[in-house]
Parts: sequence; structure tokens; C-alpha cells
Amino acid sequence: IYVAMAIAVVLGAFWLLLPRRRENDPVSDLKRALAAGELVPYYQPIVDIRSGQLRGAEVLVRWRKPDGSLVFPGSFIPLAESSGLIRDMTRDLMRRVCAEAGASLGLRPGLKISFNFAGKLFSDETIVKDVRNIFANSPIKLSQVVLEVTERDPIENFTETRQIIAALQGLGVRIAIDDVGTGHSGLSYMLKLGVDIIKIDKMFVDAIGTDRNSMTIVETLVDLAHNMRMDVVAEGVENFEQVTLLRELGIRSAQGYVFAPPLPGSAFLQLVEAIEPL
Ligand code: C2E
Ligand code: CA
Ligand code: CA
Ligand code: CA
Repeated sequence: IYVAMAIAVVLGAFWLLLPRRRENDPVSDLKRALAAGELVPYYQPIVDIRSGQLRGAEVLVRWRKPDGSLVFPGSFIPLAESSGLIRDMTRDLMRRVCAEAGASLGLRPGLKISFNFAGKLFSDETIVKDVRNIFANSPIKLSQVVLEVTERDPIENFTETRQIIAALQGLGVRIAIDDVGTGHSGLSYMLKLGVDIIKIDKMFVDAIGTDRNSMTIVETLVDLAHNMRMDVVAEGVENFEQVTLLRELGIRSAQGYVFAPPLPGSAFLQLVEAIEPL
């Protein structure tokens, strides 16, 4: 009986291993997609809600499969982060934006371009050189670049993160805290990281019309930000009622479906090129 059990265990182990070997490893899939140029930038316009003018865009990655289907970042960014592929992916995305939109954006230095930077990128100072080198060869000026700290996990080393942020600011880029008020991106990040911009998450934008407390929180965040000389961008704005409320709160910039969804490069460039170059 023991021999039979041992054989069953060995066979069971085999069965468990077999399908895993046949299945594609999702990390290698993602690596291959990156190498094949399937991870492409989309651009969501950011609008000045007082004048209605375009202020720039946030770059949001899409996985464009060879069959033409689009995969949204929620389903592969966590894997890119945990596998360490995020750094190559982010560099590649910056290069692609330079290649695709560099000429048009460079001629219009008033326009800003924002990239999502996973928090862990701020724990390795080689990112400072990467950013400098990538934009050194592009018409996009470093003063047009915004890096959004998107924090899925709490920041482990504040001092180090703060130093790398300062070094990046030394290049002329501006740093934003993404999704302020949600997850780990709380007040302490606002107070301690020395950033230039805060982004108010859709969750609050959705609630300001109906929930008095959310309104008060956003009011407080905006006051604090302005006292600290930070700009404020509201995201996920879906209707004009929200635009009006945000304007009343003193917020200058916003993005959301009410203005435009994330657009493929060609559509975004049409908007940019409608603006007179300097
Ligand atoms: P996020 O940075 O908070 O980006 C805003 C998300 O809200 C985007 O989702 C955008 O498409 C969506 N959105 C914009 N306006 C509206 C609206 O009016 N209504 C609604 N319902 N949604 C709106 P997306 O593109 O699926 O990206 C999800 C998240 O993935 C981003 O959230 C960001 O954290 C991450 N992500 C995207 N691209 C990158 C990247 O290149 N690097 C890193 N590290 N993260 C990225
Ligand atoms: Ca963002
Ligand atoms: Ca955000
Ligand atoms: Ca968000």
C-alpha cells in the first residue's frame, strides 16, 4: 500500500508539473510583448478647466496584441512591477513617446507630458540618468515632463525616495503624487516627498457632488497643496457638473471622459497640432 501511495504521489506531482510547463509563463509573454513593440502609449488630454485649453496629456500604456485587441494596464502592470520588467517598460514607453510626439510637443513647450512611474523606480538612482539620457535626444524639454509617483505599496525608504525625487527635479522635471487620498498616497507623502503636483483620484471627483465629507477632503487637499505651492489635477471627470465644482474649488487642471478618453498617438497629435507652435 505504501508503494502504491508513493507511486500515486509521484504521478500526482508529475500531473501538477506538466500543465505548468506547457502553459506560457506570463512574465515571458510580457517580455516578448515589450520586445515586439506591443506595449504602446495612449495619451489622455489634460485640460485647463478655466480656459478649456489643452495643457498636455498623461501617457497610459496599452498592450496592443497582434490581432488588434487592446489589453488595459490593470491586468499587466502589477506583473511588470513584481517581475522588475517595469523599468524597461517605462523607459521604452518614454522613448516611444519621444519618437511619436517629440517633434510636436517640443514645438509647444507650454504642453506637459506625464508618465506613470511605479514607486519602486524611485528607489534606484539610475533612473535619474535614464530620464536625462532619454530626453537629451528629444525635442521634448525636461521642463515639459511630469513623473507621477503611482504607489501600489508603501514607500520603504523615504530618505532615498526623497533624494531621487530631488535629483529628478534638479533635471527640471516635475513630480506628481498620483491618486492622492487613496491607498498609501496620503498626506504624509504630500508633506514629506517635496513634490510639485497632486492628482486627486476619481473616487473623490465622483463623490464631491453628493457627499459633503468628500467635498471637505478635496477642499482641504487643494488648500494644503496651494499653500505648499503645488498644482492640483483632478482625474476621472465625467460630467460638467463636476467641472463646475472643481473650478469652484480652485482646481486648475483636469482630465476625464468629459473631455477625452486616452487616445492613440495619431488622434492626440491632431489635437496638439491644432495649437499654434511657439
Ligand atoms: P491612473 O494613473 O490613475 O490613470 C487613470 C485611469 O483612469 C486610466 O485607466 C484612465 O484610462 C482612466 N480614466 C481616465 N478618465 C476617466 C474617466 O473619466 N472615467 C473613468 N471611469 N476612468 C477614467 P487605465 O488607462 O486603465 O490605467 C490604469 C492604471 O494603470 C493607471 O491609473 C496607472 O496607475 C497604471 N498605469 C497605466 N500606464 C502605466 C505605465 O506606463 N506605468 C505604470 N507604472 N503604471 C501605469
Ligand atoms: Ca496616473
Ligand atoms: Ca491617477
Ligand atoms: Ca486613479
